[in-house]
Amino acid sequence: EGTLVCWEASVNVEEADDWLRYGNPWEKARPEYMLPVHFYGRVDHTPDGIKWVDTQVILAMPYDTPVPGYKNNTVNTMRLWSAKAPNDFNLEEFNVGDYIQAVLDRNLAENISRVLYPNDNFFEGKELRLKQEYFVVAATLQDIIRRFKSSKFGCRDPVRTCFETFPDKVAIQLNDTHPALSIPELMRIFVDVEHMDWDKAWDITKRTCAYTNHTVLPEALERWPVSMFEKLLPRHLEIIYAINQKHLDHVAALYPGDIDRLRRMSVIEEGDCKRINMAHLCVIGSHAINGVARIHSEIVKNSVFKDFYDIEPEKFQNKTNGITPRRWLLLCNPGLSDIIAEKIGEDFLTDLSQLKKLLDFVDDEAFIRDVAKVKQENKQKFSAYLVEQYKVKINPSSMFDVHVKRIHEYKRQLLNCLHIITLYNRIRKDPKKSYVPRTVMIGGKAAPGYHMAKMIIKLITSIGDVVNNDPYIGERLKVIFLENYRVSLAEKVIPAADLSEQISTAGTEASGTGNMKFMLNGALTIGTMDGANVEMAEEAGEENLFIFGMRVEDVEAMDKKGYNAKEYYDRIPELRQAIDQINSGFFSPDDPGRFRDIVNMLMYHDRFKVFADYEAYIKCQGQVDQLYMNPREWTKKVIKNIACSGKFSSDRTITEYAREIWGVEPSAVKIPPPNIPRE
Ligand SMILES: *Cc1c(COP(=O)(O)O)cnc(C)c1O
Repeated sequence: EGTLVCWEASVNVEEADDWLRYGNPWEKARPEYMLPVHFYGRVDHTPDGIKWVDTQVILAMPYDTPVPGYKNNTVNTMRLWSAKAPNDFNLEEFNVGDYIQAVLDRNLAENISRVLYPNDNFFEGKELRLKQEYFVVAATLQDIIRRFKSSKFGCRDPVRTCFETFPDKVAIQLNDTHPALSIPELMRIFVDVEHMDWDKAWDITKRTCAYTNHTVLPEALERWPVSMFEKLLPRHLEIIYAINQKHLDHVAALYPGDIDRLRRMSVIEEGDCKRINMAHLCVIGSHAINGVARIHSEIVKNSVFKDFYDIEPEKFQNKTNGITPRRWLLLCNPGLSDIIAEKIGEDFLTDLSQLKKLLDFVDDEAFIRDVAKVKQENKQKFSAYLVEQYKVKINPSSMFDVHVKRIHEYKRQLLNCLHIITLYNRIRKDPKKSYVPRTVMIGGKAAPGYHMAKMIIKLITSIGDVVNNDPYIGERLKVIFLENYRVSLAEKVIPAADLSEQISTAGTEASGTGNMKFMLNGALTIGTMDGANVEMAEEAGEENLFIFGMRVEDVEAMDKKGYNAKEYYDRIPELRQAIDQINSGFFSPDDPGRFRDIVNMLMYHDRFKVFADYEAYIKCQGQVDQLYMNPREWTKKVIKNIACSGKFSSDRTITEYAREIWGVEPSAVKIPPPNIPRE
């Protein structure tokens, strides 16, 4: 109660994940650090300053979770906040008449931290969500400033804090625009509360904040209605207007008369509904802006924030994402970890670039056999798990072709569906030919309000119902939908995967991290030149991945010319057959029209150009089959991939953020281990 609940969407039924039902032994409430957060009210411009008054106050209760480092004698603290109604909530003069109702209304206040919005790459402009974002920002910034003031850096003057060193001691990394309110909130604290002058406050704010962009999909970018701010955060709205005015004055001075540029670069979007573009606010209020893979950072500079890049190119950076080798190798795949350690020692766990040393063993017959054996054991184990948990029986000697990630049109689970149907039709057409047996596993949650994503899940399970029960097909092709895909399931399925599906339309997946987890665990990648796939191909050599399809430039050229799905449908018989089957109810005999919306989308308004990559994808899957028939050559490619996956450690990523954005170096002083007497 009073703490975030996540919603788990499986197949097409959501279930609340009541993760605190049995309590949480890893966290400690810290009531001594509880803080007030203000909402609503009005702004008073008084002779002795600006005051935000008549607000509603909600308390933020901190909960601390220790985060131990791996064998480094360091434990960090993760501080989460829970909303709590103040004792006098609604009990002031007006409401004493209805005591019972006032107590019941406490729930309303505590709803702020009740539930996490489950969207992925989609902005939903709900007031409760805006309240959540401000709640976390306001509590965290008060906490930061309290700690700064109590440190030796902030307390020189007992009445007026010296904030000169604030940006040297504090770094606020805006992980997407969700905490963007940090910028106006810092300004409010500095100007209204600490009585700093505006320009000084702006300089300190800018040097403290940095912004990481996570997507270029327009439907994912936060654009809050001004009307919501007027009501909920009136002072922050004034501050945002003032920030925007100074910013536009600056742009106007650089580009006299360029009205369209001012419109494009404004934080405020005019229209039927006036909105605040939070990404623009972040770019203006930060000293560094980064994308999460090289290709994505280039798109950030050249299209999404081009106008901003033109003015301040030095602020734009790249920080390619990474994954932690402790969870995504040592913990989830001890078998693979062990045989690597036998060859190169254990240092790769804290310096993943050392995996390069495995290149010496690409032709080592014993190591090739060991790597193949560990993979087979992981496949056996995962097969047993599916039998035990879901009574699903799969063939552990078939190729495990795995496509797990959130269900989204841009991630193109539908392209995978078309491949499955194509394989099915080929086996039906020529059942005597030999085929590489495949188990295609697709998993992922659909956002509860995303109708197309839910239809995609329904299509996957419907294709499975037909394919898995067709006696002509037998063991050669199976389709499994992995329900309730989550980290604990990822830890089981990824070590068992042979083939990793990373097939987003080029230019749409900012980085991806699933792609890295598979590479590190000895799966080969079939993928487009998108996100971090580009750098994976660069590290391992393009010939060691199965790269297919349009590049970003091809997609851009096609957008100029106009994408015509029907062209591909008319020209490619196997594609036409698959689409006709989906459209005619072959996979939904009980409701032949069920997938009309999917077919209509693919044929007439597919933003992600599934048909344009169909032929290249099918051909590339043929090359996957060819290599899989040669287990020794397959495993050699696997070893090359593992050896070249070192770049994708989050240790490398964090070191780059520290050096190039926060201006800190890893501590040279290693904390010695405690001297624990042995028995
Ligand atoms: C890593 C991970 C993701 C991200 O996967 P992508 O393929 O990069 O989209 C999503 N969900 C879970 C449970 C993960 O472990």
